Amino acid sequence: MTDVIHLLPDHVANQIAAGEVVQRPASVIKELLENAIDAKASTIQVYIKEAGKILISVIDDGSGMSITDSRLSFERHATSKIKTAEDLFQLQTKGFRGEALASIAAIAHVELKTRREEDEVGTCIKIEGSEITSQEVCVTAKGTSISVKNLFYNIPARRNFLKSDTVETRHIIDEFQRVALAHPGISFSLVHNVGELFNLPASNYRQRITNILGGKSNEKLVPVNEETEILKISGFVGKPEYAKRTRGEQFFFVNDRFIKSPYLNHAVSAAFEGLLKDRAYPSYFLYLQVDPKSIDINIHPTKTEIKFDDEHALYAILRSAIKHSLGQFNVAPVLDFERDPNLDTPYNYENKRASTPQVEVDRSFNPFKNEALTSSNFKSNFKKESSSWEGLYTGLQSETIGNDDVDVRQIEFESEEVTGNLFGASKTEEAQSSTFQLNKKFIISTLKNGMLVIDQHRAHTRILYEELLKSITVSAAVSQQLLFPLVLQFNQQETELLKGIKDSLEQTGFIFSEITSNSAEIIGIPTSISESEVEMLLEQLLVDFQNEVPENNFSHTDLLAKSLAKSMAVKSGNLLNFTEQQHIVNGLFACKEPSLTPFNKPVFITLPVEELEKKFM
Ligand code: ADP
Ligand code: MG
Repeated sequence: MTDVIHLLPDHVANQIAAGEVVQRPASVIKELLENAIDAKASTIQVYIKEAGKILISVIDDGSGMSITDSRLSFERHATSKIKTAEDLFQLQTKGFRGEALASIAAIAHVELKTRREEDEVGTCIKIEGSEITSQEVCVTAKGTSISVKNLFYNIPARRNFLKSDTVETRHIIDEFQRVALAHPGISFSLVHNVGELFNLPASNYRQRITNILGGKSNEKLVPVNEETEILKISGFVGKPEYAKRTRGEQFFFVNDRFIKSPYLNHAVSAAFEGLLKDRAYPSYFLYLQVDPKSIDINIHPTKTEIKFDDEHALYAILRSAIKHSLGQFNVAPVLDFERDPNLDTPYNYENKRASTPQVEVDRSFNPFKNEALTSSNFKSNFKKESSSWEGLYTGLQSETIGNDDVDVRQIEFESEEVTGNLFGASKTEEAQSSTFQLNKKFIISTLKNGMLVIDQHRAHTRILYEELLKSITVSAAVSQQLLFPLVLQFNQQETELLKGIKDSLEQTGFIFSEITSNSAEIIGIPTSISESEVEMLLEQLLVDFQNEVPENNFSHTDLLAKSLAKSMAVKSGNLLNFTEQQHIVNGLFACKEPSLTPFNKPVFITLPVEELEKKFM
């Protein structure tokens, strides 16, 4: 038998390598931006068409390349950034693998134009699927311009795997922002099709953050600075009261490289402990400088995770630095964050004087006179007591039942009533089924042959979801006018999204008077929510849309209804009074699909009497 092992041709090897380096258009943007930064550019412009699927173009004014270098740059493992293995331990550049350009050229149509300052003319190279199709001398500005067209043109499976333009654009914006936040001294712009998404002048960190996040982010930032032997920290954390419902604005940079670190993230959360309301995430933009020798950025192919030598020390320093800043800038604990308005004194009580409790004494009462304790008297007393005892339970009892006496017959009767109610009896009867709340989480109700346990949050989500779907598609919901317009700050990406779903949102009761590139003015909101909930609700909505971008109109409506329903529904932990419980039970069983939430989770379970009986055996 002949030998079977052979070396893969370069273009195949490159394609395979590309699979690791280039997952989507955003990966190309990241690599090209990093190359431009390594080339010491001071201005970097990015153009994309159709979310980078058709064209990605990055133009820099950096060092440029010689003729030989420009040709070599597309070879695999060709890099100017390291020479020996030791260099790996003191990386000062973004790139070092020498794989990016080779990989990109293997799976797209690439055009490179580059010129060094000292050269009269530049070089233009075209390369398709690793094949150089032309190389000529050309006139071009100092620096490098790379256009990547028709990404994955020769790997249809990959191309089909790409998400909608909105999703891919969001990935691109994420990468762009990470790089731009790490390098405020460089000016960046990003243009999509014909619209400019970002135009960031060279500035400082604070200004760059504000320019990217838009609006009034500046006043939300608290500076953090600390310098120790092993770590230098600078940057900002968001004031606790501006904490987000999502992790969107959390950025760590280590030696100017964006990284993800659940461990360090924990250190930040620990510093914020006690300052945040539930399920809120602090914003942060933290720039860490450490000795390159003390980190290993090589453990992840796309390089967002790194390994530190002395993680524990970093954790402690970071936590105390942030704590210190929060203290120093007087960001006091936000007490009363979610004060229950029911605990406030009602206005009409405010100026009333407290009255002295009156004690009424029955002066004619004689304890030694025992005539009161005749047996008949005792009986009537009991009768009285037992009826007031029943009174406590009137809420739990079906009022169709004669309630003079409580006996076994009655209980049976009641449960039959309830069964009828749940499945098809008239509304007026429904309102009388008995329910109670367990653990502030479940509503318990009775069935003919057992017990019904309803998850209150899920049930309410289902009800609101169906209502919202109806108001978006059939008839608009009513809205409550706000006394003063509510102005909320958003970044450009978010306002773009808001504009896209504005019409549907208005069907649910919101009324927008204006949406600019960094804010939205709201003058009406759905009647079922309060003004203080609006920001959180819209924030969550935008996140949901960013995470799961709907492909068509139907899924768009569905996602909107799901997101709002989820945010608006009562949470577990909310105490529900009897009427509220009834409202949920009745609302639920009036739904088209009461048994599942819009997210396909079960809403209730039933516990048949037989099963209960088994437990008593
Ligand atoms: P790496 O960045 O890991 O070295 P790349 O494939 O991204 O690998 O780039 C290969 C080489 O091409 C780089 O080392 C650099 O010398 C050169 N190069 C790439 N992009 C640029 C650019 N925008 N300006 C100048 N030189 C560049
Ligand atoms: Mg590179």
